[in-house]
Amino acid sequence: MDTLDKEFPIGGIAPHGGELINRVLTGKEREEALAQAHELKGLQLKSSINLSDLELLAIGAFSPLTGFMVRDDYDRVVQEMRLYSGLVWSVPVTLAVAEDEAAGIAEGQDVALWQDSVPVAIMSVAEKYRYDKAREAREVYRTEDEAHPGVARLYRQGDVLLGGDIWLLNWPQPREFEEFRHTPAQTRRILARRGWRRIVGFQTRNPIHRAHEYIQKTALEITDGLLLHPLVGETKADDIPADVRMQSYQAILRDYYPAERVLLGVFPAAMRYAGPREAIFHALARKNYGCTHFIVGRDHAGVGNYYGSYDAQLIFDNFEPEEIGITPLFFDYTFYCRKCGGVVSAKTCPHGKEDWVYLSGTQVRQMLERGEMLPEEFTRPEVSKVLMEGIRARQSQEGK
Ligand SMILES: [Zn+2]
Repeated sequence: MDTLDKEFPIGGIAPHGGELINRVLTGKEREEALAQAHELKGLQLKSSINLSDLELLAIGAFSPLTGFMVRDDYDRVVQEMRLYSGLVWSVPVTLAVAEDEAAGIAEGQDVALWQDSVPVAIMSVAEKYRYDKAREAREVYRTEDEAHPGVARLYRQGDVLLGGDIWLLNWPQPREFEEFRHTPAQTRRILARRGWRRIVGFQTRNPIHRAHEYIQKTALEITDGLLLHPLVGETKADDIPADVRMQSYQAILRDYYPAERVLLGVFPAAMRYAGPREAIFHALARKNYGCTHFIVGRDHAGVGNYYGSYDAQLIFDNFEPEEIGITPLFFDYTFYCRKCGGVVSAKTCPHGKEDWVYLSGTQVRQMLERGEMLPEEFTRPEVSKVLMEGIRARQSQEGK
């Protein structure tokens, strides 16, 4: 699969834990494992987060993890944000199954993981264990409120966790945005080919408004290149769909960014909405993709009012910089100020709210649904247009 620029090394910043994991089987190894999978006990993966975690484990985005977490890792991650080895890791990566499914699987047994009629992986089940969902909710999401989308998913899932190594046989589906789906190893080769040494990663699940463009370009002033890395796995139903976002990114990159200094790739992860802990997780994953710097804005990976505005930045203070390895760049809220005549933040503008152009996510959605262009100070017209067309297409699909 990895024919891209073989002459360029995978090099760059050390992956988390030192080794870039690759559990994607190819060639003869894959053929043998596929034949074996049909003989093994099978387990259907029904949840899209399990399928996306599986892919990210296999391609090394979650290095040093080589599979779903065993109990010692899980416990210490929940309690202390560290793997059993002591290495920093902030969110559980687990495979939950129902009691009756678990009953048919023994520790030490190899099982095949299926997506519908396709075997996607082999898993060597090292452990099966019970866990305390309320504790995970409190520690990881900082709330037991079932209205929190991450907590709701946790409470819905099975009561037993299976831990153990995985090997990927087939890519989970759907596999959208193929041309932007670079693995960490492929991304590192592209970065090496471009000769970038200081690379800043930008995680997003939103369109790029002027405020984000300002943050990215400010970071680009002090780095060699930007990895624009939208998350395209499962998000909340009211987030803008990934295909519309991808069109909006391409529109703005074409007209407003220097092509030779930006790489667009997709991050096939599901949103956990774990706020501060997810900020650490997103940073470590981007280190595995080869980034040296990572942008953490206000309320990164947050939802509702569960986290303080700066919690996702403050959480980095719990660790020594070398334990994280990638350098976080913290940004405040940014917005257009009419008096300053440009995008600013409370750190750089002496004026007040009456001069600032700011719209909430809800206001943006309502304007687009009414067919109104967003103010140019807030969003480039090219982006507004793509978003509006996306919303119209969805409305006509839903028969509104
Ligand atoms: Zn101002």
